[in-house]
Amino acid sequence: MKMNKKKTLQKSVVSNGGIYAITYFFVLLFVVMVGYYVHFMVFESKDVINNSYNKRQDLLAESVVRGKIYGAGKEVLAETKTRGDGTEYRYYPYGAVFCHVVGRSEHGKTGIELSENFNLLTCSNKSIGTLWNELNNKKNPGDSVVTTLDVDLQKAAYEALGNRKGAVVALEPSTGKVLAMVSKKDYDPNEVSENWESLTEDADKESRLMNRATQFTYPPGSTFKLLTALEYVRENKKYEDFTFDCDGQEIFSGVKINCYHGSEHGKVDLKKALAKSCNGAFAKIGTELNFKKFRKLCNSFGFNTELPTDLVHTNSTFALKASSKKEEMPQTAIGQGDTLITPLHNAMIAATIANKGVMMEPYVVDHLETEEEEIVSQKEPVEAGRILKEKEAKQLTDWMKNVVDKGTASALSDFDYSVAGKTGSAEFDSKKSSHAWFIGFAPADHPKIAIAVIVEGAGSGSEYAVPVAKKLFKNYLGN
Ligand SMILES: [Zn+2]
Repeated sequence: MKMNKKKTLQKSVVSNGGIYAITYFFVLLFVVMVGYYVHFMVFESKDVINNSYNKRQDLLAESVVRGKIYGAGKEVLAETKTRGDGTEYRYYPYGAVFCHVVGRSEHGKTGIELSENFNLLTCSNKSIGTLWNELNNKKNPGDSVVTTLDVDLQKAAYEALGNRKGAVVALEPSTGKVLAMVSKKDYDPNEVSENWESLTEDADKESRLMNRATQFTYPPGSTFKLLTALEYVRENKKYEDFTFDCDGQEIFSGVKINCYHGSEHGKVDLKKALAKSCNGAFAKIGTELNFKKFRKLCNSFGFNTELPTDLVHTNSTFALKASSKKEEMPQTAIGQGDTLITPLHNAMIAATIANKGVMMEPYVVDHLETEEEEIVSQKEPVEAGRILKEKEAKQLTDWMKNVVDKGTASALSDFDYSVAGKTGSAEFDSKKSSHAWFIGFAPADHPKIAIAVIVEGAGSGSEYAVPVAKKLFKNYLGN
């Protein structure tokens, strides 16, 4: 019987070809439409909703009260409040302290307000209460974002930078959690509308709206000597035999290199050259390195490509390549030349050495939760890869400890725990003005925090970046 029925069906397909063609057409159309709808929901809706100029977001905001943004200890960093007349506004209890990393929600969303816009406008609580609200046109609470940010550390970094321009990034080396991210100049996100004209007018001079920690690139100065030293180690088995006699200035490949303020460091090996940040020794090393291999090493650390993170950032650049002229190497080896790096990236380099050679992807959102504190999604740390061997990381750590014990960061040697670090004074104009850098981590043997500090146009790293670093370590780890 079954067989017969099938035959009959097949017959009718043939005899009613025209009708079936039309039916197929509509079925196909339907499938395409469903397919597009599913594709939109899965892949595109987030982008569409995240687009600040899109009306859809306004529609969502009509049915959902924008969720809160919290610090790691559940301190409120951003919340939506309602005025007497029923209109909503976004309130930032810490004013300017978190303005770049948390961002703003007016005049173009930025920071977490932008990256988590979709989640902040989504209510994942599907209880009878929220359903009831929907039926009665009452707003439901959006999901909250709980960040990795340590509020006390952020405040300490903010205060330590004072009135100077610059940036601080602090990471947890074992996870990639962003513990603090400060950029100055800053602005109060509570007063963006009132001050919008002056904020955009002074953009060229102060760049208050820009997040220097992720968007500005600077010459790395002597912090880069860590990578130069690593490349030298890789190319020379007998790297411990390296010596250089420094008399303050010398010409390498036709380029005159001075040590900071003409200091004469005398006879140095690699360890001492790093501790004293001897430009001569590293320029000499530069003349001996293989350009192609050096570029490969820098690229493996994240130069010339996107960094492994969801944080919006500018790429760092390492310009030297196989065809570069040999005159470019002495400057490049000491972190000058055309090399440029973001403070975030420099903190990642410190964190990678601290984490025994494995780079972790930096992230700032720990988890999403409903207003009832039910977890919606939890971020797990992600390894970006092993960048250096454990043995190499240990060697660099030992040298960085020596920078603190006997070198340019000795102001950090009086803690109960040991600190590993490297200072830098990156010259950026012909008048020898310099940005003050420090990168490092502590405790050196069991690192809990890795940092990068840059103070723009201040002077030497020892004098201006190390004191900022000291306040951070003290705040996070105590004395
Ligand atoms: Zn020197």
